[in-house]
Parts: sequence; structure tokens; C-alpha cells
Amino acid sequence: MRLLRSTDLALRVLMRLAVISEASPTTRQVAESMDVPYTHAAKVVAELQHMGLLLARRGRGGGLALTEAGRTASVGVVVRAFEGDGEVVECEGETPCPLRAGCRLRGALRRAQEAFYASLDPVTIADMVAAPTGPLLLDISRAPAPS
Ligand code: SF4
Repeated sequence: MRLLRSTDLALRVLMRLAVISEASPTTRQVAESMDVPYTHAAKVVAELQHMGLLLARRGRGGGLALTEAGRTASVGVVVRAFEGDGEVVECEGETPCPLRAGCRLRGALRRAQEAFYASLDPVTIADMVAAPTGPLLLDISRAPAPS
């Protein structure tokens, strides 16, 4: 199963904020440090803010900060929210599959998808930044942006 880029980015943003103790980074700084377009990062940040997982303060001294709900957020919940209801295979697309009315494979794939999400439910953002990931993430975040 392959995750959307926005799902992976959402998890990376939460993990990055989970290890930063100094001044809150801006969305632009986060986008630059992750080498992703600002508009993509801004969209993900807005969704995470809507979910109550981070705070985005505007103006001087503003920036992004993880909420307690963000620190303890389930990776499975974040993945489900960003992936949506899509199935792993498109049965109903522009050319609907003729087997879709009674396909056992479709049900098996749905159960496999759910099992994948369920395996991530007990994993939290805080778990994901334990060593060695957290210290490494901190080093990368402090690295000067390429000029
Ligand atoms: S064979 Fe089954 S799972 Fe595959 S596209 Fe058709 S309905 Fe969907």
C-alpha cells in the first residue's frame, strides 16, 4: 500500500514539531527544511490545525506548535484522515470493473487496508520521535537551508 504524499508530509510535520523545543518554526521554514513546495505544506498545516493537532500563530513571534493532542495523536488516525475513504484498487472508476458486484478480492483488499490502518492505531507521534529518529530529526531541522 502506498500513502499519499500529503499523508507522509503530515506525519513528518507532526514529528518535526514534536522534537523542536526552541522558537516555533513558520510554515515556510518547515516547507524549506523538508524540501516541499510551500503551498503543499500550507495545505497540510491547515488540515492539521483543523484537526486540533497543531497551533499556527500569526505575526511577529508566531509560528507552528504542536498541541498535546498532536503529541499523543495516533498515527493511524492521521493516516486515515489524510487518506480518506479511497480503496487500494479502483473498482468504480471511469471504466467500472465488471466483477465489482460480487468480487471477493475487493473485500479481501478492504480487510487488508483496514488491518494496515489498525496496526498504526496504537502508534503515537511521540513514539515516532524516540531515539534514534528524534535526535536525527533535530539535527536535520537545525541544518542551515541550502542557499
Ligand atoms: S477484480 Fe475486484 S478488486 Fe479488482 S477491480 Fe474488479 S471489483 Fe475491484
